[in-house]
Amino acid sequence: MQPPRSYRHTKIIATLGPATESPEMLEKLIDAGVDILRLNMAHASREWVINIVKRIREVSDKLDRHVAVMIDIKGPEIRTGDVDGAVELKRGDQLELCTTHDQRPPGDVLRVSVNYKGLPNEVEEGQFVLVDSGLLRLCVVEKGANHIRCEVMTPGVLGSRRHINLPGVHVHLPSLTLKDHEDLAAGVEAGIDLVALSFVRAAGDVEELRRHLTDLGSTARIVSKIEEQAGVRNMVEIIKESDAIMVARGDLGIEIEYPQLPLVQTELVKACQAEGRPVIIATHLLESMINSPMPTRAEISDISNAIREQADAIMLSGETTTGAYPLESIEVFNKVIASIEPSVDYKLNSAIKLREPKAKMLRSAATLAQDLGNSGIVVFTRSGFLAYVLGALRPRGVPIYAFTDREDIFRQLMLPWGVEPFLMPFSDDPEKTIQDALVYLKRKQWCDAGTWLVVITNALAEGQVIDSLQLRQID
Ligand code: PGA
Ligand code: MN
Repeated sequence: MQPPRSYRHTKIIATLGPATESPEMLEKLIDAGVDILRLNMAHASREWVINIVKRIREVSDKLDRHVAVMIDIKGPEIRTGDVDGAVELKRGDQLELCTTHDQRPPGDVLRVSVNYKGLPNEVEEGQFVLVDSGLLRLCVVEKGANHIRCEVMTPGVLGSRRHINLPGVHVHLPSLTLKDHEDLAAGVEAGIDLVALSFVRAAGDVEELRRHLTDLGSTARIVSKIEEQAGVRNMVEIIKESDAIMVARGDLGIEIEYPQLPLVQTELVKACQAEGRPVIIATHLLESMINSPMPTRAEISDISNAIREQADAIMLSGETTTGAYPLESIEVFNKVIASIEPSVDYKLNSAIKLREPKAKMLRSAATLAQDLGNSGIVVFTRSGFLAYVLGALRPRGVPIYAFTDREDIFRQLMLPWGVEPFLMPFSDDPEKTIQDALVYLKRKQWCDAGTWLVVITNALAEGQVIDSLQLRQID
């Protein structure tokens, strides 16, 4: 039996890739405390998804420590095609981005395909086209029916399948592409828990994905990635329709003016908290650690800022896919969280509107647990709803132990702030269910003797099931 990882409110997400996909590395990642593993479908095949999810589940079973799996589908993302090796582009060089497999004889200008037929219609001569997170800047000098010719303004290296940004342009691609449909089918077959949808522009994009998941028979929760201007404009309606939000700063930092990025991040975090939705801060939190065993001081401050803003989760991308120091990166997350969380003056979330009486009871439970000190909250939930709300309330220094009898809900509860989920069958007798939970928490060393637990549960009163809030102490 593994001792529990030390409790923390802020969750950790790591993206899998060549540096971390082996069973040995997976074991180390999960052991280091990762809560959610992300599969980035920009670089993955159906077979990889099926195999890797199977491997994650095997390693989790072996360690008796479970993680959620999030598949990240690419949505309306424009990408270049394959090039032979990597092409070095100098300032003033020209290249053509072609929307067809061109029949014209090859000229002396480098030609690269793009996956977006509408590209020549969407750009004007003189406009900038940004490639590979804006590292390569091109300027449109000529438009044809099936191509645009560009001049290199900022030199760099062009690899295969690089992402293109057209800031402020409404890209006329469907929110779910053919590849997304294939990726989703593979993910659902493999048993993923969360789906991250890229470049969400409106609530309708989320509804469409939800319908599609339902048709596939999946209960996976939807994480909408906000990473371009329409997504920012429509954030409130998107948040209401989504189960969670990702502040996808990689693309967002290119698609909007970058000095605005911290303001938009804060605005998104606040808007999510008002709706009681988890929010993930993603990209470049430890970018320097792709090549360095030590974080920069600025990165430590950026992580601290996300913790102080009370984000639910912080995410690693390149650091754990191809980086040289994936485990060290997780270690840095753990250490910074342990250092910063105790200093944050969490106030109970007063913005969130609680409609159901049982949900209102949670606020009292949170207040009581905070007053008691050396305490926790125990909640029994079939749908996960009560645990999501409790996390959104942000009770300071109080672990939320969420028991559920559904495996899918158990793993989905890895995401919200402060929630420590457990899978356990429920008894018809509520008292037996409570006893089972308390014994489990003590046996697995989550709680010591003397710990106060505020328990949100059903009780039987003359054969009637009533909602109740109880105070128990671990003996
Ligand atoms: P990506 O999304 O890594 O899939 O591009 C995250 C981001 O843009 O920040
Ligand atoms: Mn992105």
